[in-house]
Amino acid sequence: MTEITRRSLLAGTMLAAAATALPKSAAANAPAAGKQAASLYRYKIGDFEMTAIHDGIWNRPIDEKFVRNAPFAEVQKVLADAFLPTDKLPIPLTTLLVNTGSKLVLLDTGSGGQLTPTAGTMTANLAAAGLDPNNVDVIVISHFHPDHINGIKTKDNELVFANAEILVPAPEWAFWMDDARMSTAPEGLKGNFLNVRRIFGNIAKDVRRYAPGREVAPGITSIAAYGHTPGHTAFAVASGNDSMLVLSDTSFHPSLFARNPEWQGVFDLDGSMAVDTRKKLLDRAAADRMLVQGYHFPFPASGYIGRDGKGYNFVPVMWQPSL
Ligand SMILES: [Zn+2]
Repeated sequence: MTEITRRSLLAGTMLAAAATALPKSAAANAPAAGKQAASLYRYKIGDFEMTAIHDGIWNRPIDEKFVRNAPFAEVQKVLADAFLPTDKLPIPLTTLLVNTGSKLVLLDTGSGGQLTPTAGTMTANLAAAGLDPNNVDVIVISHFHPDHINGIKTKDNELVFANAEILVPAPEWAFWMDDARMSTAPEGLKGNFLNVRRIFGNIAKDVRRYAPGREVAPGITSIAAYGHTPGHTAFAVASGNDSMLVLSDTSFHPSLFARNPEWQGVFDLDGSMAVDTRKKLLDRAAADRMLVQGYHFPFPASGYIGRDGKGYNFVPVMWQPSL
């Protein structure tokens, strides 16, 4: 048997194509779509219907600063082993809508099309799900990075979810709304302080701040997961005997930070605290074999965490055609 190489495969494909070429009139002649269909994935947790809603991908250029405590060559090796580019990281964004039966609860809001041209499809996908933003009752925010809060408003500062009550972590609010802290913040962080003011400034009196550990909506409990930011929050969603863990940005991109939980990413404001939080939550997910969702996990962003050597691996859910 001849050895199969990339070249022989390609040559074989061309021969097969030549042999089966049809007269033009008989060949299919459909225009290329050039884009994805609506990106939604539904599943159930007890009586709750969950809808993962894709907001797109942020292709972020990376360099030796991306992981603070690992040589860039090592980071690039891990990326290459995961079949990812080594000069930029494709960072998916997936929001999670929980229909509790009495409330529509949205966990984080996407980028609002204000971060990168390749993200901002959340509201179009919501419409494809047959849902009107005006029907969202509650928005629960995990932390104040732009890819999580910008979807609250359009780029012209109009509210997208006009009837939704907005809940935010109290320690996150205390940190980012502190003017004294903003005035002494390093230049790279100032933009985030300003963006937080753009989103929340004129609606501050309507924003409800929740304490970690509290139930934020029926069946949804907040879990303090500090480190990525000072008030970064994960969530447990429970209905009947079923439950899942929403990791938010605890593991960021699993190919990097679940595999290497000790790594401190450039977005982790307190790197060592972020590592402690990550290990604690991933340990729990692995021990309990519970379903998890990660905001930057590959769509549909849910699956399982297994232990693997000194780190963890992420096993995506099997796409189920029915709920
Ligand atoms: Zn994020």
